[in-house]
Amino acid sequence: MPAPLMTIASTPEPPATADVVVIGGGIVGVCTAWFLRQAGLSVALIEKGRIGAEQSSRNWGWCRQQNRDARLLGMATASLTLWEQIMADTGEDLGFRRCGLVYVSDDEAELEGWAKWCDFGRAAGVETQMLGADAASDRGGVTGKRWRGGVWAPTDGIADTASAAPRIARAVMAAGGSVHQFCAARGIETEAGRIASVVTESGTIRTQAVVVAGGAWTSSFCRQLGISFPQATIRASALSLMPGAPDVPDAFHSKEATLTRRADGALTLAVSQLARVDPTPQSLRYAWRFLPMFLARRDVLSAGDLRAMFSGQETLRHWAMDKPTPMERHRILDPRPDADTVARILDQARRFVPQLTTLPVQAAWSGFIDSTPDGLPVIDAAPGPEGLVLASGFSGQGFGTGPGAGRLAADLVMGRTSTIPSAGLELARLHRGRAKVAGM
Ligand SMILES: Cc1cc2nc3c(=O)[nH]c(=O)nc-3n(C[C@H](O)[C@H](O)[C@H](O)COP(=O)(O)OP(=O)(O)OC[C@H]3O[C@@H](n4cnc5c(N)ncnc54)[C@H](O)[C@@H]3O)c2cc1C
Repeated sequence: MPAPLMTIASTPEPPATADVVVIGGGIVGVCTAWFLRQAGLSVALIEKGRIGAEQSSRNWGWCRQQNRDARLLGMATASLTLWEQIMADTGEDLGFRRCGLVYVSDDEAELEGWAKWCDFGRAAGVETQMLGADAASDRGGVTGKRWRGGVWAPTDGIADTASAAPRIARAVMAAGGSVHQFCAARGIETEAGRIASVVTESGTIRTQAVVVAGGAWTSSFCRQLGISFPQATIRASALSLMPGAPDVPDAFHSKEATLTRRADGALTLAVSQLARVDPTPQSLRYAWRFLPMFLARRDVLSAGDLRAMFSGQETLRHWAMDKPTPMERHRILDPRPDADTVARILDQARRFVPQLTTLPVQAAWSGFIDSTPDGLPVIDAAPGPEGLVLASGFSGQGFGTGPGAGRLAADLVMGRTSTIPSAGLELARLHRGRAKVAGM
């Protein structure tokens, strides 16, 4: 069974015109559309498959400041408040809760790294607390073992991966925007160097502003516009267990496994950063830029298979706007979960929390994480036609930060000064020498 996902209906027909077209109905695209609509602009949100069906329903649901790279911390902090605000303004239950995050470890070097971040985080105003052996063993009591230490991040939380993006999209429609599923945006037409329209498989929408929030597809979409967007997709697997084990903290992390309580009471299981690198034409092209990141994570990244060569994202091909594109042949990227990885996650999670042994597996899935060479997103007015904004390359951190990213992308479209910090998220940084790989 793939990752659970709530489905919603679409607006019947794409409009002839819109102030802004948002391409991509993941969490970033729906939040962008929501903020644009809130500001009174007419918005068409275009999704080639189902809202939320790619990364945004396949992740763990963590919304955290803890251990964030300094360049993304401001957005992460703002996003926590925005999750609450969107829930209040839409009346939709997105499953967001500041349940707190529990980290435990026996590894002295890991604990030192966490302590360093806690000092930095507290100086930046984040509530975070190192746990000594007694406190970590107490918070991690469900493991039945004594831990050397840990971290408690009381104001961080989780949201519902199965319904957050669809519910926000539904709110966009209720507020007067339009949402179009099974509708690929094939390309952008320009007039005098400015965006004039978006060509979709269901017709052309006249517009002067476009946000590309296409996740794993952004790099190949940008290529059609002559924009180089260095991106490689990393295939991460996860699974869920049937509801049970109520004593497990709602968001619980160790090197062995990361456990997250889902909205239905089930648990998502994963091992942090454990993933496969599947070559694609685009990632081979940019391989040298990714070497530092791959080398830094060589203990958790391993070579995958060649299937992604043919799954359409990250193609080097140019496509015609009057014919079906790879996006229509691959409506939803649904890579097969890696059997060895799933078995390893299950085994490690059950050794981490022995009471999980009796819970049957509910679902298993994989997702392609859209990664940049430095592990940070690009949210920027692009160097292509005037009116284009990119919001992509979230490198495994875009669900929790989705609301802040959407707010920033919407502000960029409207030419407003944003309250969300954007320094270090420009596309140009990825073309200037070697970018600094994001730390924790
Ligand atoms: C296993 C796993 C665990 C993760 N855990 C976390 C976590 O705990 N916390 C966290 O913050 N992040 C996590 N992430 C990362 C997070 O899921 C992503 O960063 C985030 O969902 C990205 O959202 P997005 O909207 O940019 O992309 P996506 O959700 O991938 O959405 C992009 C959408 O654009 C559509 N699209 C693309 N091109 C076109 C086009 N031309 N026309 C129409 N539609 C198009 C696609 O169909 C897709 O639906 C995890 C990811 C994975 C895979």
